[in-house]
Amino acid sequence: MEKLQRFCFVVGLLLLFWNSGFANQDINQQLSECKSLEDDQAQKALSLAEVQLAQLSKQDNALLYGGFLSCAAWAAVGLNQTELALTYASDLEVLIRNMDGAETKVNLLRRTGSVFHRLGNRVAAVDNYQKAMNLAESLNLINVQIPILVNLGVLHSQMREEEQAIKNYRQAIALMTELNDFTYHAPVLFNLALTLNGQQRYDESLSVFKQIEAMMTPQWPDRRKAQVYGGLASVYVSLKNYDKADDYNQKALTIYSAHKEKPILYYLSLTNQAEIFIARNQPQQALRVADQIWQYYQAAENRDQLMGINNPLYGLSNVYESLDELEKALNVRQYATEIDNEFQDTFNKEVMAQMQARLSDSQQRKQLAELKAQQIKDQIELNAIQHNRQLIILLVAFGSMLVLIYFYWQRQTNKRLHAISIRDSLTQLGNRRAIDKWLTARPMPDPPKKRLMWLIDLDLFKEVNDQYGHEAGDEVLKALAKTLTGFVNSDRMVARWGGEEFMIITDDLTEKEMNGFCDSLMHAIASTKIVYEGETISVTASIGVCSIEAKGDKAWHKALSAADKALYQAKEKGRNCMVCNQ
Ligand code: GH3
Ligand code: MG
Ligand code: MG
Repeated sequence: MEKLQRFCFVVGLLLLFWNSGFANQDINQQLSECKSLEDDQAQKALSLAEVQLAQLSKQDNALLYGGFLSCAAWAAVGLNQTELALTYASDLEVLIRNMDGAETKVNLLRRTGSVFHRLGNRVAAVDNYQKAMNLAESLNLINVQIPILVNLGVLHSQMREEEQAIKNYRQAIALMTELNDFTYHAPVLFNLALTLNGQQRYDESLSVFKQIEAMMTPQWPDRRKAQVYGGLASVYVSLKNYDKADDYNQKALTIYSAHKEKPILYYLSLTNQAEIFIARNQPQQALRVADQIWQYYQAAENRDQLMGINNPLYGLSNVYESLDELEKALNVRQYATEIDNEFQDTFNKEVMAQMQARLSDSQQRKQLAELKAQQIKDQIELNAIQHNRQLIILLVAFGSMLVLIYFYWQRQTNKRLHAISIRDSLTQLGNRRAIDKWLTARPMPDPPKKRLMWLIDLDLFKEVNDQYGHEAGDEVLKALAKTLTGFVNSDRMVARWGGEEFMIITDDLTEKEMNGFCDSLMHAIASTKIVYEGETISVTASIGVCSIEAKGDKAWHKALSAADKALYQAKEKGRNCMVCNQ
């Protein structure tokens, strides 16, 4: 029983292995079939691939899954189902990313690149080709590098990166030599020669064309031969070797003439022809050929053919220019620019669209997110800077205002202090400083007017204080101050000299007018009645007068002592009178 069990187990295991091996073998066959159908019977290949994709596990059979994905994508491109092809190609990119490095991965990368290339998605194509190339190099797989390099060369020249294309082609040729495998030799050389010609590296271009010519066999298709001849002719024209150019160009034209349908290359050969005519001083013929070419290029149905890497209109414009047909040359050049712009425009749009499409890639999304985050951070920083700037401006404005207010306040305070410093607080008359200021500011009066000093001392004022009290005395002083103020005009000044003494300076009185003024002064003082607590008080005053002869301290002190002396004399005379001491 035990033996039977073991037998069954072993048979079961064997069957399992057999079956799984068989199943894998079957799927591999399906994949080969899919690949063989993908070009000519795309619909069939697509259906077959989709059936397998629905059944296979992405994780367990990544390589096979990838194979079917590439097949489906390729077939979808052939069926013009762009969206579908793009989906499969993108799935493939994601799948490949997690694969281990191996030759299958290199092939899948190249296949992905080719799908994108056929879809016109050049950026994605270069990306995948480049990854395939890097992996092939690291795995030292030389044979697969050749087609990748060729594809890269074509792509780079389409993207106007000619120097890179030349490098790719040269590297491919070097590898062919190394492996002794020349399957792609002729087309690669041809592309290289054309690119070199476009870069005006005519000598190098010529040597490559010659190499191709040497490889030519009668079995080559006519058109390919014509392309080589046309290319050679064009290089010889550039090198100004018109005999050789003519030989090759005739060969090319002969081939094209045998065919009814003329490709654009035929018209390029005609352009060579026109150049040769010009060089040989046959302008009439050159013009005829040029017009023929121009007519063809202008036709709306041929417009698309002009749209390419090498715009053939510029060559034609040069021909017209050499023929002095400047108006035509200008027209052609304008058309060339128009075509170029359109091509560049569609090219740019295409590249932009591809870039955009690539952004769905998670890594790029991350980069975009980081970029966005950085932009936001920058914006925040910018806002903060602006905010700070506004704050500083506000503070500066506020500070300036404070400083202004401070200065204004100080000025006002100074003014007030000055006003206080020249005024007597009890009577509100000016004080000695006020007299000084007044005198300094004024010129001496013109004779016969004199500057007179009137020193007024109240008579027996002590008694007023004694009799009515000090406060009553203050009231008397205030009332008299008012009385004296009534004698002031713009040429006179009244001040409290100290205690119960007042001083008047007059600039508008002559000697003759002195007595009159003095009488009315004394009369006004004596008539000033002060009623204090029911009591009526009145006082008289003695006055010492003298003239101030000049401006300055000396004259002032001299006058002051004279006035003082006069006042003393008035007191001596019995008070309530005036003494003049001139
Ligand atoms: P005379 O006629 O000789 O000038 O007699 P008089 O009493 O006025 O004498 P004197 O000029 O020597 O004295 C001035 C007095 O004036 C002394 C003081 O009491 C009084 N006096 C001075 N200033 C003030 C003041 O501001 N208020 C009051 N109420 N009295 C003052
Ligand atoms: Mg006195
Ligand atoms: Mg007195």
